[in-house]
Amino acid sequence: MVLGILKEKATENRVAMMPGEVVVLKKLGLEVIVEKGAGERAYAFDDAYIKAGAVIAEHKDVITRAAMLLGVNPPMDDINLFSDGQIICSVLNPVENSTWLENARNKGLSVLALDLIPRTTRAQSMDILSSMATVSGYKAVLEAASLLPRFFPMFMSAAGTIKPSRVLILGAGVAGLQAVAIARKLGAIVEVFDVRSAVKEEVKSLGGKFIEVEGAKEDAAAGGYAVEQSEEFKKKQQELIQQRAIASDVIIATAQIPGKRAPLLINKETVRQMKPGSVIIDLAASSGGNCELTENDKRIIVNGVMIIGKSDYPSDMPSDASKMFGNNIINLIKVMVDKEGNIVLNMADDIISGTTAVHGKEYVSTRVKQMLNL
Ligand code: NAD
Repeated sequence: MVLGILKEKATENRVAMMPGEVVVLKKLGLEVIVEKGAGERAYAFDDAYIKAGAVIAEHKDVITRAAMLLGVNPPMDDINLFSDGQIICSVLNPVENSTWLENARNKGLSVLALDLIPRTTRAQSMDILSSMATVSGYKAVLEAASLLPRFFPMFMSAAGTIKPSRVLILGAGVAGLQAVAIARKLGAIVEVFDVRSAVKEEVKSLGGKFIEVEGAKEDAAAGGYAVEQSEEFKKKQQELIQQRAIASDVIIATAQIPGKRAPLLINKETVRQMKPGSVIIDLAASSGGNCELTENDKRIIVNGVMIIGKSDYPSDMPSDASKMFGNNIINLIKVMVDKEGNIVLNMADDIISGTTAVHGKEYVSTRVKQMLNL
């Protein structure tokens, strides 16, 4: 079976598969056809793909010759080039791309949504949300450290003693925990807020201080995710966050609630009271932001505090982000490929049924149906 790897649009530096991962696909019995220049922005050139055993072709040829197309983002402009029975595998964002998905369903395409991979232990090695959040947490701290007009670690030098910076992390999911680890490695004092008590020990073991706000609502049915909090809790939490924010030099905001607007945790007044030169990096920017003043994809300065609204850090670290992305896809392919190198979508497998948005002109994934109110 032939797998095609498409070049992403100009705003995306990642590629779905790096040459090193193409070698693994070949070992699984799959043929690989790569669009000319697909890996360039991730520093993977065509000759490296050829060496790995892939064929290079023009955009249209890749789509018509491959049975399954891999991408970081869905091929938005090319739906008419696809034909019945082809498989598309990429991040989907089903709500944002619902019209495209409906067209794909009508054409009889199968769409595998990498953002819908169930968050189960068996699917952990396929979880692109986790791997990309790891990149975001890492890169956000490095960016904050390079923009901050102060040191992260404590320095005792002949020129005097420099106090360590204080980093406040909002949300200790995958990105937040990675941010705790990197900020600690750079020598900062790290404080953390989250509404899930399960992360308390993880934060502590990474050297961070968990700040508990009593009365957080948790729901086992949310599958390990956070849920919306009561007004009383939100007020209490905002007050405590304000206290800690004023004492901080950096805030890395990562708090999100799946399918909802990101919780507002830092208001204008908090920013106004922060130290000039402080940096806020809001990774929740694309889902509304944790800071009231965040503007998505923008860097603004308010009263000397820099606020960066950025949710696409993985594209800024394209080589390793693409390597992780490709490895996640390979682990998914391993449960789909048979001995003859054919991809089989077995809907009895919860990973496949959970990840398949549409197949055989039907909506399949329960989560997609819920998200689109079908
Ligand atoms: P996420 O991006 O949805 O949210 C980031 C963090 O923000 C979460 O820890 C959440 O609790 C927190 N948050 C939400 N509202 C908040 C508020 N009002 N105040 C403070 N914090 C708030 O989460 P994520 O990083 O994608 O993952 C969340 C959890 O999912 C993980 O920690 C883990 O338990 C689970 N998970 C499981 C797997 C797996 O088993 N395959 C993989 C990844 C994640």
